[in-house]
Amino acid sequence: MGLEEKLPSGILLTSVEKLVNWTRKASLWPATFGLACCAIEMMTTGAPRYDLGRFGMEVFRASPRQADLMIVAGRVSQKMAPVLRQIYDQMPEPKWVLSMGVCASSGGMFNNYAIVQGVDHVVPVDMYLPGCPPRPEMLIDAILKLHAKIMDEPLGPVRAAEKAGQRTDLVASSVKYSRGKRTLPIGVPEANQR
Ligand code: SF4
Repeated sequence: MGLEEKLPSGILLTSVEKLVNWTRKASLWPATFGLACCAIEMMTTGAPRYDLGRFGMEVFRASPRQADLMIVAGRVSQKMAPVLRQIYDQMPEPKWVLSMGVCASSGGMFNNYAIVQGVDHVVPVDMYLPGCPPRPEMLIDAILKLHAKIMDEPLGPVRAAEKAGQRTDLVASSVKYSRGKRTLPIGVPEANQR
């Protein structure tokens, strides 16, 4: 954008910021980018049981030019790193990166010369998701936390200066949405009957 660079801060810009961030977080389109076993969990997350369509992101885009979220699902080999960077560069701004699984985040158990020891050596990462593999609930939790981060993003340098030092409250979504009820993991029969 460019308008936010010119406008003074105030109620109007704050409201516009909320609206823009809401539209951005409610229509994240992920790039189709599965690298290893974590990708199976990512695909499961898009399937009917977990239904990423609830967040407006069921459309995994085959073209990076139509995507604004890169979910790095799996280990990144040295050979794949430049390809990953090229896909990232082809995505339009604003864009976000979610590092899914311990391999993508730190190399995991692949502590060797063939695997990049953390995808943040190649692209900037907005959200790290631990686990091997992370279950779909964990990916959804990371996506909801990314939503919180997007909602808190300043629109332009004036708002960035105003919001400097303020932190996004990243409460676990299982806590945030439980409304005081005890939550059971999916897979426990009682939880599935609700
Ligand atoms: S974190 Fe585990 S499931 Fe994910 S890519 Fe690495 S080995 Fe596979």
